[in-house]
Amino acid sequence: PKYVYEFAEGNKDLKDLLGGKGANLAEMTNLGLPVPPGFTITTEACRHYLVHRAMPPGLDAQIEEKLAALETTMGKRLGQPDDPLLVSVRSGAKFSMPGMMETVLNIGLNDESVRGLAAQSGNERFAWDSYRRLIQMFGKTVLGIDGELFEDAIDVLKAGKGVTDDLDLNADDLAGLVVTFKDIVCEATGAEFPADPREQMRLAIEAVFQSWNAPRAVLYRRQERIPGDLGTAVNVCSMVFGNLGMDSGTGVAFTRDPATGQQGVYGDYLQNAQGEDVVAGIRNTVPLSELERIDPKSYAELLDIMEKLETHYRDLCDIEFTIERGKLWMLQTRVGKRTAAAAFRIANQLVDQGLITLEEAVGRVTGEQLAQLMFPRFDEKADRDRLGRGMNASPGAAVGRAVFDSYTAIKWSRSGEQVILCRRETNPDDLEGMIAARGILTSRGGKTSHAAVVARGMGKTCVCGAEELDIDTKNRRMVAADGRVVEEGDVISIDGTSGEVFLGEVPVVASPVVRYFEGELDPASAEADELVRAVHRFMRYADAARRMDVRANADTPADAARARRMGAQGIGLCRTEHMFLGDRRPLVERLILADTDKEREESLAALLPLQREDFTGIFEAMDGLPVTVRLLDPPLHEFLPDITELSVRVAVAEARGEEHEGDLRLLQAVHRLHEQNPMLGLRGVRLGLVVPGLFTMQVRAIAEAAAERVKQGGRPRPEIMIPLVGTVQELEIIRDEAVRVVREVAAEHGVELDFPIGTMIELPRAALTAGQIAESAEFFSFGTNDLTQTTWGFSRDDVEASFFSNYLEKGVFGVSPFESLDVDGVGRLVRIAAEEGRATRPGLKLGVCGEHGGDPVSVHFFHEVGLDYVSCSPFRVPVARLEAGRAAA
Ligand code: PEP
Ligand code: MG
Repeated sequence: PKYVYEFAEGNKDLKDLLGGKGANLAEMTNLGLPVPPGFTITTEACRHYLVHRAMPPGLDAQIEEKLAALETTMGKRLGQPDDPLLVSVRSGAKFSMPGMMETVLNIGLNDESVRGLAAQSGNERFAWDSYRRLIQMFGKTVLGIDGELFEDAIDVLKAGKGVTDDLDLNADDLAGLVVTFKDIVCEATGAEFPADPREQMRLAIEAVFQSWNAPRAVLYRRQERIPGDLGTAVNVCSMVFGNLGMDSGTGVAFTRDPATGQQGVYGDYLQNAQGEDVVAGIRNTVPLSELERIDPKSYAELLDIMEKLETHYRDLCDIEFTIERGKLWMLQTRVGKRTAAAAFRIANQLVDQGLITLEEAVGRVTGEQLAQLMFPRFDEKADRDRLGRGMNASPGAAVGRAVFDSYTAIKWSRSGEQVILCRRETNPDDLEGMIAARGILTSRGGKTSHAAVVARGMGKTCVCGAEELDIDTKNRRMVAADGRVVEEGDVISIDGTSGEVFLGEVPVVASPVVRYFEGELDPASAEADELVRAVHRFMRYADAARRMDVRANADTPADAARARRMGAQGIGLCRTEHMFLGDRRPLVERLILADTDKEREESLAALLPLQREDFTGIFEAMDGLPVTVRLLDPPLHEFLPDITELSVRVAVAEARGEEHEGDLRLLQAVHRLHEQNPMLGLRGVRLGLVVPGLFTMQVRAIAEAAAERVKQGGRPRPEIMIPLVGTVQELEIIRDEAVRVVREVAAEHGVELDFPIGTMIELPRAALTAGQIAESAEFFSFGTNDLTQTTWGFSRDDVEASFFSNYLEKGVFGVSPFESLDVDGVGRLVRIAAEEGRATRPGLKLGVCGEHGGDPVSVHFFHEVGLDYVSCSPFRVPVARLEAGRAAA
């Protein structure tokens, strides 16, 4: 096979074969842009190397052939003593893996050619500096030597000379450094630094291949869900130098502002510098616009190229370039990363410019980005006093008093304070404190740290790994890099979207995007900015394109109304458990404690009108749209007092000789109902079968509420849903009873009532026997929360806080299966149930009401397996609408 492509032989669509960087270098070459000549070794060669631990046969010859051609083009040989061709060897996989793999610059230098380079460039310092960089990079990446050894040697040299800047080292210093570096290599590897240019190149190529499987790269891929067997391409590119003097330099540029999407000149430039210097932040860069003054010719050419690239790629591009003695060279381009707001604005602008279609635009914005735009934010116009910055672990804007332990967080929040929990890092013991806090700030750990994972799970604002802040939990204070101190109780503000931490209270404002969804901001009004207009435009397109409906999980009239404003086409899950708490708890207690049928019936009779009212309000808010009411699901003990507290109360009363008959009975009941594993115990449909009259009362309440609404001229559309069914027999019993009650109520009220009765699919057994269950169910709603719990055997209430951060760090999975559907396992069950359910009952309505209904990636999967709707929390409804549209487009 052909393993090596000259840049001119490739194009941008060959990313699989040439990697992202190689494909784009090829594209730029063919556009006639100034790209230093070179060639790309394919990912196929890398894959061969990784499998066989050896270069594929014929590769060496192909490389030699392309290298010879390159030498002819450049008019000099690699490492030619009097005038050396130098090359860079760079990794470049299909998916960008920033900083994960290796790069070696200045290949071709040795003790002889360094003198040739000095003579040709007329710059001795430059030549020696290039040489020491080669040994340093080669030593570190190819030979695996600890990079600090080199850094330390530079520091020692600078200290000896009493200087702090690398630029203060002269040619002699650097020549000395080369000797030191070669000694380091010798000592670490027991062999001389390889002087043969072709050997340098070959070793560097091999090192890039190997770096595909470096531990950090493996981990990164696991977390980002990049397949592990793609391999990387290798780009061998003739060197151009930005460090030849002040008429040279290197920079990065964006064709638009990646933060806001605004068109203009964005980027950084550094004079007399090479490659990594810009990114490494060793010296201060200047804004790209300064280049106009420094080198107007190159600047004009760069702007011209940027425009070409953007029109050609039809998207925001980011660019790396180098200027060598006034000559501009393009080193890299790619479609650039951007913030959520920029993504919407840019896509919208490109549609306006006629560069892309509306369909393409909708394909380029994601539900995840939309979700980010919906969080409340700090008022941009307000003063802010920044203390430091960490990682944006979980979006949102939170203000509160700094506390440094969970106990204080809980105590203060109980007394009505808003607090920000500040910890070095969190662990499962902090869970309650995290729940009590408005936001969480840590100084250690990344985006998969415990704090980050748990906060995201709770939808709580979190900034993590703010290393500039010294969080001293012992002394209950934190110290910023500039020495300012935040004591316990001081107010701070944290921005989970940007990762910033501010001193004092920064005012929070609602997102304009939410105001738009809530109907408070007219996208045609002057107040609406480009972002809101873009969201409006894309939502309309997505709504028209999608096949699936989007419903909401809501169980109060207010939530139902809000969901409807957000575009929900019904309620996919109305949980009834909260209706049994609060004031009604005593009634429920009486029901659970009832010794006689009479007592039980009395309690149910008292609950009935209350339940009916619940439903009336919701049916009214959702008039004309389906409302799936789920019958009671949680274990009964959840409605009884805590067993420990109650035991203490009884014991105290007993010791004091006080009356405690009632409590004693209650305690007995609590004991009777106590389960080791309540989530696998008496709950869901099992309650309906075991507690006489309970489900009957609920169905009656639904039917009566519907009858009432009908009489008032409404169009109630309830659907009755039975939870946690494992076998069709359970469902049959409850369904027959429900049908009977609905008929009874219809007759009593003289109205026609006919509700679909269906089931949740929440247990693997239900999924696997869906063909049977569909005999008795008119619809299925996948309860993917429980289905994930029961498929994995993960307690949904515990694992995310306890060991998931560990699993995520180890890359067992890239995201919690409670957050994004585990397509291979849980998804397979969903697919089986959908297919077998519909085989039994062709018109079977299918939906999902677990958290996954609002998760972008999962929505695509649900579309693909043919569900009729997804249901999610009201706030996620727009996200699901957009993603359902993108899935169908
Ligand atoms: C589910 O299990 O996915 C579900 C929606 O029900 P709940 O979360 O109430 O258990
Ligand atoms: Mg459930």
